[in-house]
Amino acid sequence: MAGKRGIPHIAVDSCKGCGLCVSVCPEAVLTIDESHVNLKGYYPVTVESVENCIGCLSCALICPDVTFTIELLDDQ
Ligand code: SF4
Ligand code: SF4
Repeated sequence: MAGKRGIPHIAVDSCKGCGLCVSVCPEAVLTIDESHVNLKGYYPVTVESVENCIGCLSCALICPDVTFTIELLDDQ
């Protein structure tokens, strides 16, 4: 299948759970994980469907806390 792919890596304890990244992701890859609280006391974002990530970097660019590292993959 044509198109870019990526893997978002999240520094979970840097996240303040604001949800900005969830709102801008065009592929609904991300969600807020309400099953646990991080070291800052927030529900952190988590990767729900990594297979849908297109490596667009929108989440990394909008995050005010520099929580994301996006690994870009060669299309197979
Ligand atoms: S890189 Fe783009 S597609 Fe991948 S999780 Fe971030 S916003 Fe979503
Ligand atoms: S934008 Fe950053 S701080 Fe806000 S929920 Fe996403 S990863 Fe967490």
